[in-house]
Amino acid sequence: MKTELLVTGISELVTAEGAAARHGRSMSELKIVKNAAMAISGGRVDWVGARGEWEGEAEATLDLGGVAVLPGLVDPHTHAVWAGDRLGDFEARVAGATYEEILLAGGGIRSTVRATAAATLEELVRLANPRVEALLRSGATTIEVKSGYGFAIAAEVAMLEAIAALAVESKARIVATVLIHLPPADAAERPRYVEQVCGELIPEVARRGLATAVDVFVEREAWSVVEAEQMLVCAKKHRLAVKLHSDQFHSIGGVELGVRVGALSVDHLEAAGEAQIAAIAASETVATILPGVSLHLGIPAAPGRKLIDAGAAVAVGTDLNPGSSPLFSCAAALGLAVRMNGLTAQEGIVAGTLNAACALGLSDRGRLEAGCLADFVVLRGADWRELVYVLGANAVREVWVGGRRVVG
Ligand SMILES: [Zn+2]
Repeated sequence: MKTELLVTGISELVTAEGAAARHGRSMSELKIVKNAAMAISGGRVDWVGARGEWEGEAEATLDLGGVAVLPGLVDPHTHAVWAGDRLGDFEARVAGATYEEILLAGGGIRSTVRATAAATLEELVRLANPRVEALLRSGATTIEVKSGYGFAIAAEVAMLEAIAALAVESKARIVATVLIHLPPADAAERPRYVEQVCGELIPEVARRGLATAVDVFVEREAWSVVEAEQMLVCAKKHRLAVKLHSDQFHSIGGVELGVRVGALSVDHLEAAGEAQIAAIAASETVATILPGVSLHLGIPAAPGRKLIDAGAAVAVGTDLNPGSSPLFSCAAALGLAVRMNGLTAQEGIVAGTLNAACALGLSDRGRLEAGCLADFVVLRGADWRELVYVLGANAVREVWVGGRRVVG
């Protein structure tokens, strides 16, 4: 049988191999095929190898002209749907205001919640579209988007409906997650909210297929380990995957909980200590780090190097959101992880492709091997390292999703 398209003129084709997340030292094992070709049919990769080894027939051939090709990047952590802005907060914070002062002045996350609740579905999609487009142009072919600015069951469902509408419009593949973000301000309301999440929100999400995972923010100022465990166990009963935002400011047991419940990933980890690093390294849970937050808020960078040296599977996301990470480039997130979290360039690529796909429970992407989705990026240059080297410009010339060029 003929392949539909043979892509040639690939100076270097760079990919991780195998469907399982790469842990520790194996994160630096990239397959690099020089003068490569890739055969594509039906939106999937048929064959990858050196150009000279291709013996099949192709209906069409495309010569890229001698540039590097990598798997489409996977952004495993964004909050790309929001309304309003946090420019006033940014200005105040740069001028020295504290988080509490900004909240008291009516800013902070509660202002995003108010603006998001007041927006229509159409407005939310219109606002989110260019953000997702920016991530796509930076190389992200799969983008996770969380709810979490609803803070009421109906508003969370409305956010998930906006994410579903965004998924229909976007050329990127969108993966939706329900985020149980901050608890009600009145502590007495907390048990009832947990009950509503377990009794109403999670069953509705599962029934309507509005998300594939439930994420809970575990932190002193957010949910406790006990509350989070109730919600995550409920999610698993409804056959949804689970994830956590944890150890961003304090280690209160979120990593340990994530490992115990078999979370796909625990995200943030800026405050993770030796015990947390050891716990996640000994598990199958992916450690997702978010360098944009460290850059924007000036908080310590997550211990990426230590996590990998301990044997963890590390992924990198943008955490695109208005308050703590206005980072609209998946490639830049990888470039920051190399500079701020101590990853090597090789580890950065694995963290942004295969391991990021595993952080979403997806085994058909994040690598370019026979049978995988034909989602890939074409760089402007011949050397793959430009993807993590370039800052402030785009090293990506073309983006392909399902064997079709959608950017470039
Ligand atoms: Zn987040």
